[in-house]
Amino acid sequence: MKQIGITTTVPIEVLMAAGYTPLDLNNIFIGSSEREQLVNVAEQDGFPQNCCTWIKGIYGVCMEYGINTILCVTNGDCSNTIMLMEVLKLKGLEVIPFAYPDQPDVKLMQHALNALAETLGTTLSGAEEVRVELERVRRLALGLDELTWKDGVVSGLENHMALVAASDFGGDYREYEHRLGELVSQALTREPYPDDCLRLAYIGVPPVFAVDFYPFVERTGARVVFNEVQRQFAMPSPGGSIAEQYCHYTYPYSIFGRVSDINAQLRKRRVDGVIHYVQAFCHRGIGDIIFRNSIDLPILTLEGNDDFMLNHHMRTRVEAFIDMLKRRSAPASKASYGQKS
Ligand code: SF4
Repeated sequence: MKQIGITTTVPIEVLMAAGYTPLDLNNIFIGSSEREQLVNVAEQDGFPQNCCTWIKGIYGVCMEYGINTILCVTNGDCSNTIMLMEVLKLKGLEVIPFAYPDQPDVKLMQHALNALAETLGTTLSGAEEVRVELERVRRLALGLDELTWKDGVVSGLENHMALVAASDFGGDYREYEHRLGELVSQALTREPYPDDCLRLAYIGVPPVFAVDFYPFVERTGARVVFNEVQRQFAMPSPGGSIAEQYCHYTYPYSIFGRVSDINAQLRKRRVDGVIHYVQAFCHRGIGDIIFRNSIDLPILTLEGNDDFMLNHHMRTRVEAFIDMLKRRSAPASKASYGQKS
């Protein structure tokens, strides 16, 4: 199987039908013990300081890990990817563009998928077969999500790791399924988190400091029961075809589609507060204005850059936010809320 790097979640069914193994460059970057060096590689080659760390990390992986074919998303993800694509071409890599339609329209999506299939020398019916093949593993990932918020036996970090890896299944969906199956079996034997543990939602692009962030939140007396974008990677609304599936996937389209999904999940998961992560120098940070206008819960906006652990300032802000939520949900304030209504 030929490897193909992907810069974000894409219709991997088409790539797999064409005989490629998709590898999410973001996951390789953030999972690498050489993250700092990978960013340095990009900066030494001229990427500016004020360029998003994910973009620099992706570039570093392309240069250092010998992945020669890259599928770059030119619409529906990140404007920086367009220039990244040009630099990768300059460096001699084979670059294949893919553009999500401007809106989640099944016909437009079908057209985009057909064009991609043709470029890669496969067909949409081949990709449909792969979609059916992946249904079981995606259901397992979404089952783990349910064990997080409903049964309280899976941690926010485990949830994040499992769902974020659903973009490429680590390049081997059978191995992913095996490992996830073991985690689910183990989780079913655990004692659930206490009922009074504060419930948080994490919205926004995945954080650069995930391995530190989720355990810190738990040490502070709360836990994450909803990872918004990561859950989308597991295709929670698959629909009846590959075109429908990628129309229901909220991330590439208008932020208002994301808001609807987020608000529905906040209610369902009985969330007490929301942490919105924004990446330094990312245009998506502007979406904070819309989230703050559309979500009726306390929101903490956290900005990460190239610290792969929470710094002191961020720890203090998370602690203060959780403390405020605890006071807000204390019995006295619940009583006065009850009296008012
Ligand atoms: S965090 Fe923002 S700027 Fe960085 S790659 Fe993602 S979309 Fe692009």
